[in-house]
Amino acid sequence: MNLADINTLERLLKSEGFSFKKSLGQNFLIDDTVCPAMADAACDPNTGVLEIGPGVGVLTQELAKRAKRVVAIELDERLKKILPKTLGEFNNIKVIFGDAMKLDLEGIIKDEFADCERVCVCANLPYYITSPIIMHLLESRLPIDSVTVMVQKEAGERLCAEVGTRDSGAVTVAVSYFAKAEILFGVDRTSFMPPPNVDSAVIRLKIRDEAPIKLNDEKGFFKFVKACFAQRRKTLVNTVSNSLSVSKDKIRAALTELGLPETVRSEQLTLNQLADLFNILFD
Ligand code: SAM
Repeated sequence: MNLADINTLERLLKSEGFSFKKSLGQNFLIDDTVCPAMADAACDPNTGVLEIGPGVGVLTQELAKRAKRVVAIELDERLKKILPKTLGEFNNIKVIFGDAMKLDLEGIIKDEFADCERVCVCANLPYYITSPIIMHLLESRLPIDSVTVMVQKEAGERLCAEVGTRDSGAVTVAVSYFAKAEILFGVDRTSFMPPPNVDSAVIRLKIRDEAPIKLNDEKGFFKFVKACFAQRRKTLVNTVSNSLSVSKDKIRAALTELGLPETVRSEQLTLNQLADLFNILFD
């Protein structure tokens, strides 16, 4: 069954009485070039793939053709009667119904992918929780090699920006700390049913073996970074002094020590400069 064919998908959904739930970010892919390209970028025959949100299984099928095993986590229990029909021909797919933000993903990876050389995540993510899911995957330090996901174009640009450039934000800093990020290709809004109001992009995060900066207090650093980017239009001195009650004089002195101007904005600092500033202010 070619699930990326709009007529096939419409027929299937009509016969099952399925209607899209906007609250679950349900925009299904109807472009038959996208899923093969995502699956090619994500996995090989020795890979175990964790998919989040299979929908009717359009990406799941392509992953199953290329990977050793696929475990797909889906929140919408209405898909319980559809997925066995669309994925029945594959013997290397398991669907788990539940919330990807709440399930024990580490346990699932250990139980399901013990015989795989590597594990990766691949998904057309529900856009209402793109950043929380990505941060959850990274911060949980799951034993995964990469995360290849479809996200909103603007979210992709922020996630993959270089720290220290205009597009960067707190999430960029976090992603750069855990992974090397790249935008693979853009996807037009007309590639989905129903079409969302925005275009999309497929990004790949390759998880780093070692962090690019040394931090004594990782949690404290990310709290500091969130404070740095809380008010983007203000200078770093004003934003950090407001959010973390550090005196402006102390911040100015730290910036001078690092050779940075007092008027600098957080988005202009590199990852190393943010780490150095944090270490001076909170050591
Ligand atoms: N993979 C399908 C495709 O490409 O056509 C569907 C992608 S759709 C953008 C997102 C999917 O994620 C939906 O099937 C939705 O029900 C599911 N979903 C939403 N929130 C979820 C969550 N917290 N955990 C797991 N799945 C979720």
